[in-house]
Amino acid sequence: MARPAVFVITGPSGVGKGTVIRALREKHPGLGLSVSATTRAPREGEVDGEHYHFLTPEEFDRRVAAGEFVEHAAYSGNQYGTLRSELEKNAEQGGVVLEIELQGARQVRASMPEARQIFIAPPTPETLRERLVGRGTDSPEAIERRLQVAEEELAAQGEFEHVVVNDTVERAVAELDEIISAA
Ligand code: ADP
Ligand code: 5GP
Repeated sequence: MARPAVFVITGPSGVGKGTVIRALREKHPGLGLSVSATTRAPREGEVDGEHYHFLTPEEFDRRVAAGEFVEHAAYSGNQYGTLRSELEKNAEQGGVVLEIELQGARQVRASMPEARQIFIAPPTPETLRERLVGRGTDSPEAIERRLQVAEEELAAQGEFEHVVVNDTVERAVAELDEIISAA
């Protein structure tokens, strides 16, 4: 089986990972995206199998036990993970993006050291709160929990091969484009 180049994209909630990945994939139609599994509830507009595979906690645990995940982690009260089947599905693509949080990125670093690791950072610490509030998808309590996790994530950015600041989408995507084209 062909092994596509794997790009791990990590960064605190609200930094703009989803936004820059969408724009990047418009520039690189051959770049696949791994659809993660999660136990969190779908947000308005999120479609099962497209944005996430939405699983019950029991089904998630069953799949963990069956060895179906490349990596998985608990984040802000829910489980998230990358299914092996998603990498297989993208085997014929030029590359595949894993948009995952810090613990998952560390697991992939250990199991797939050839994967490129990119951290998306905010231009200022206040940006995260502004963007999470502006996105309007999370309750004030959920935003506070995400900002707490963000502190730990920001402290770990030095572990990453590349750090891309998402100041403007256009500039951040141009930098990601260079990293991906070089690989
Ligand atoms: P993440 O996937 O990292 O949680 P999103 O992609 O959902 O973040 O972005 C969070 C919010 O910030 C969204 O409302 C998005 O439109 C906005 N956003 C993303 N990138 C930028 C940017 N460079 N400048 C201003 N707003 C941005
Ligand atoms: P959200 O609930 O905002 O969609 O995602 C919350 C966090 O979970 C984000 O940091 C996102 O990158 C991360 N995440 C999404 N999918 C996965 C996954 O498959 N594995 C891991 N480890 N984290 C994930």
